Amino acid sequence: MKKYCCIFFDLDRTLWDFEANSRQAFLDMYDKYDLGKIFPDFETFEQTYRQYNRQLWQDYRNGKIAKEVLKYVRFQMTLEAFGRNDLALAKKLGEDYVQISATKTQLFHHTHEALDHLKERYRLFVITNGFEEVQLKKIRNSKLEGYFEEIITSEKAGVQKPHGEIFHYALGKAGATAETSLMIGDDVEGDILGARSQGMDQVLFNPHGKKFDTTPTYEIRSLLELKQIL
Ligand SMILES: [Mg+2]
Repeated sequence: MKKYCCIFFDLDRTLWDFEANSRQAFLDMYDKYDLGKIFPDFETFEQTYRQYNRQLWQDYRNGKIAKEVLKYVRFQMTLEAFGRNDLALAKKLGEDYVQISATKTQLFHHTHEALDHLKERYRLFVITNGFEEVQLKKIRNSKLEGYFEEIITSEKAGVQKPHGEIFHYALGKAGATAETSLMIGDDVEGDILGARSQGMDQVLFNPHGKKFDTTPTYEIRSLLELKQIL
């Protein structure tokens, strides 16, 4: 008898290659809005954005700013750091980034092969921190839709990973118990510790073999290894 009935996947940086896809979106925007006139080079633009985005996501997570504000303020601050005070452009970039990045479809190696294997054997779900409409578009455009019974976004659940409530919500949606469920993700805090706090087993997807203090139930460097574990 199989131990697990239900497998819950993280999306960004586990199946959908967030770094590659957002970089591609930024390259498109850099050209479209001629951002070379504002920033010394593409890398500076991208790094400046990432720095503000990280801080602002923290504020969004803590309920200090609204989603619609987060979308453009991260670009407004990026532009201002290079002397450009331009709310209209920031808003355009904010909209474009969300739209364009969701059309990018780079997945980690062996995503389809691993999911094809698992789909035959388990019920599959996604638990992802992110905006509902964006995450669903990413999944549709990357042709991942058919694998999953349900996509649980933090926006829909009302809380983000690692908050226990989102796992509880997901288990409820699946009609599954924690003991027979497995969470697969790249984020030690959000995916691994979050799932563990709810009594779920975990798989850490660690493609670069980084060192962490915690020991998940399983650790893999390639999605293909899931075929051996499961
Ligand atoms: Mg992730």
